[in-house]
Amino acid sequence: MSEAEAAVLKLICANHGSMSVDDLEESVCVFNVRRIISNREKFVCCRSGGEHKVVAKTELRLCKAKVCQGCNNLHLCRKFLLGSCPSSRRRRGCQLPHQLKSDHNVPILVEHGLQELDRAELCTLLLQNDNFLLPPGSTTPNIRNDDILCR
Ligand SMILES: [Zn+2]
Ligand SMILES: [Zn+2]
Repeated sequence: MSEAEAAVLKLICANHGSMSVDDLEESVCVFNVRRIISNREKFVCCRSGGEHKVVAKTELRLCKAKVCQGCNNLHLCRKFLLGSCPSSRRRRGCQLPHQLKSDHNVPILVEHGLQELDRAELCTLLLQNDNFLLPPGSTTPNIRNDDILCR
């Protein structure tokens, strides 16, 4: 992922995961924003409420294995990612990793171009991409079926 692409992605994530294309073009000092967001692996363009919007996308997922033998998913406590982990206040602490920039995670974040994102931005991005993270019964907040996807 190029630096420009990473900057655009970070800005969108900081804006709750989606932005109007016009706002994006105004707020990011990157040449050719529209070309960058045409990358279907990282961005989804849609029309929502008459506005041309872009939604950040990622293939990155949290590891769901109880005992992991090695994978290319993020090793992070789901509750920690979402904001607060009640287990961390217990005496024995949480059994799941609370360190975003661990030796396992950093190369994976770099591979997905997400190393510049902080925990909150990453949480936004993963939330709208990984249904595992959503509470049961809810739908993905940004990528909705009623949005008309531009192709
Ligand atoms: Zn794993
Ligand atoms: Zn935890």
